Amino acid sequence: MLPLIKAMDHPIPLNEVKVGLMKDSHINAANAGGGEFYVTTGLLEKANDDQLRAVLAHEMGHADLGHVAKLQRLGTGLSIGAILLDQIIPGSGALTPIAGQLIANAYTRKEEYAADAQGVDILKRAGYDGRTMMANTLQWLQATEGTSKGGFFATHPATGDRIQAVLNHR
Ligand SMILES: [Zn+2]
Repeated sequence: MLPLIKAMDHPIPLNEVKVGLMKDSHINAANAGGGEFYVTTGLLEKANDDQLRAVLAHEMGHADLGHVAKLQRLGTGLSIGAILLDQIIPGSGALTPIAGQLIANAYTRKEEYAADAQGVDILKRAGYDGRTMMANTLQWLQATEGTSKGGFFATHPATGDRIQAVLNHR
């Protein structure tokens, strides 16, 4: 994860990076701003290393492009971090399900395309084949979570167009 952080347009100081774990069998991730990332236990259990990298790069893309800051300004994401931090005690086993309603449909499709493209660039700068990694990961997400409620696509609206857009990204 750290090589990806360093490859951001606006790298987050490494000592400010925190990753919270949410007990949720769905595959999902979030960025609450300020270097605060959240991943679900479902993501950690089901993703391979490349898929985890691509999902995190996508979240870093949202952060790089100011989507997270925008949500906080609008108030829709205002207390995500506070609420989750309050409920999650890392390592204690006292994990809670993600407050899905809070961040449902938090991003627009346009922002999803942009975060995918930014994620591809971040992966590339870190030495990976970003386009292939992101496209494969979106395909995997669609196959695994595409029809479920509450997973990645609940907070990251998407269709097959997104995969094509990633493949067309230069
Ligand atoms: Zn997204």
